[in-house]
Amino acid sequence: MSDGYLDIHYARTRTADAPRPMLDGHIKTQVCVIGGGLAGLNTALGLAERGVTDVVLLEGERVGWGASGRNGGFVGASYAVGTDTLIGKVGLDHTKRLIGLGQQAVSLILERMKRYGIDCGPNPHGHVAASWYDNPDAMKEWVDFERENFGENIDFIPREQLREDYAASDMYFDGAIDHSSFWFHPLNYCLGVARAAESLGVTIHEHSPARSVMTEGRSCMVTTDMGIVEADKIVVTAGGYDRSLVVELAAAFQRVATYVMVTEPIDETLISSVIKTHCAIHDDRFSLDYYRRLEDNRVLWGGRGTTRMAEPGNLGQLMHGDMTRVYPELASVKVETAWSGIMSYPMHRMIQVGELRPGLWYGQGFGGQGMAQTTVAGEALAGAIAQGDDTIDLFAPFGLNWTGGPVGKLYGEAFRLYVRAYDQVTTARDRRGAGRRK
Ligand SMILES: Cc1cc2nc3c(=O)[nH]c(=O)nc-3n(C[C@H](O)[C@H](O)[C@H](O)COP(=O)(O)OP(=O)(O)OC[C@H]3O[C@@H](n4cnc5c(N)ncnc54)[C@H](O)[C@@H]3O)c2cc1C
Repeated sequence: MSDGYLDIHYARTRTADAPRPMLDGHIKTQVCVIGGGLAGLNTALGLAERGVTDVVLLEGERVGWGASGRNGGFVGASYAVGTDTLIGKVGLDHTKRLIGLGQQAVSLILERMKRYGIDCGPNPHGHVAASWYDNPDAMKEWVDFERENFGENIDFIPREQLREDYAASDMYFDGAIDHSSFWFHPLNYCLGVARAAESLGVTIHEHSPARSVMTEGRSCMVTTDMGIVEADKIVVTAGGYDRSLVVELAAAFQRVATYVMVTEPIDETLISSVIKTHCAIHDDRFSLDYYRRLEDNRVLWGGRGTTRMAEPGNLGQLMHGDMTRVYPELASVKVETAWSGIMSYPMHRMIQVGELRPGLWYGQGFGGQGMAQTTVAGEALAGAIAQGDDTIDLFAPFGLNWTGGPVGKLYGEAFRLYVRAYDQVTTARDRRGAGRRK
């Protein structure tokens, strides 16, 4: 542990931030937010920016200790659920409004970084999607669709250019670049949002896990080990890390663990021979790799997903294997830190934002795409609570459906294995067809 955080790359490179006091005693407030990940922090900041500054945020560990402070740091507008699925469920116009909120969130993050002086850089723009499939027409069609319908700033990248300017791997065929997306140091962004919220009057207590939540009539109460918060409203944003506080919320998502590793700094000539950009790169398989070359030529590599919560003993080795499958040239590079994080995944894979019962609000279910989407949720929740804004109604079709408990967990794992195997077979076929290595 490093001052209450896991001893991982982000904690080692975080901006100085003193621990906040644990809640001790009985206090009253207008809004009590539970969870100091980006869903909770953005809700608190959104409320304060709208003039609701009497806000208390309770975090069980440290600010950004959960998924928000240990993820890939890719910031983009789309949701974990595919756009096609969204259109199938709510239609094109509704989907345009949802994607529009994601795009506004990406801009708001950049604006807040400036407004509050949040140092979470560097922040290179551009997310490159590198395809494992030999199907340039499908990639071009997707680029055209995104540009036409959502105004996305995306360009197709032919395979020769992908190899020359971005990623020289035999695994990839063609690609696309989304110029509006960018990356940041997620823990430093969390810490910056926390400081911004505090500067506007929000109070944050760390090491203060909420143990119970009660809502009766117009009064709400949260208890912790050493204190009680009486509030007009409660917002639960505990991510995948709480299974017992509010059962209806916990039953509405599956917990999925996923992994990241960071290498030691790599020789400039070696790294530049394969990863030629500081843009973020991901591929287009269901169980995808995503990675980026950090400012000091380390590689941050993420991927895999499982409903098994125990971290594999050989995690660094597994992630190293994923990296060298794509770039065998990096075989001699050593892993410095590797870690896991837990995400909350609803059955419908879309974010869940709303009011469960009078006074009890929630924001969860961000899955593997939460950096901009927690801003979407924070803005919707803050708007609804502070101003009665109805943007939050756009999320009504994505309810708190039961995920099937242990059976749902088994089904999820089986589905993941099936899709992973399917991806392996089809991508190997495409490489064979193009005369490339297996
Ligand atoms: C390894 C990994 C890589 C990822 N990469 C990306 C990426 O590159 N881009 C992207 O957009 N998304 C990514 N994601 C997803 C993204 O990190 C999440 O969707 C997002 O951070 C969820 O935010 P959250 O606030 O809901 O949850 P969290 O960040 O997990 O925060 C929940 C907080 O609640 C606290 N808590 C829990 N219970 C209680 C309680 N009872 N009382 C008080 N506090 C409590 C926890 O301690 C935790 O700090 C990744 C996730 C992981 C795990």
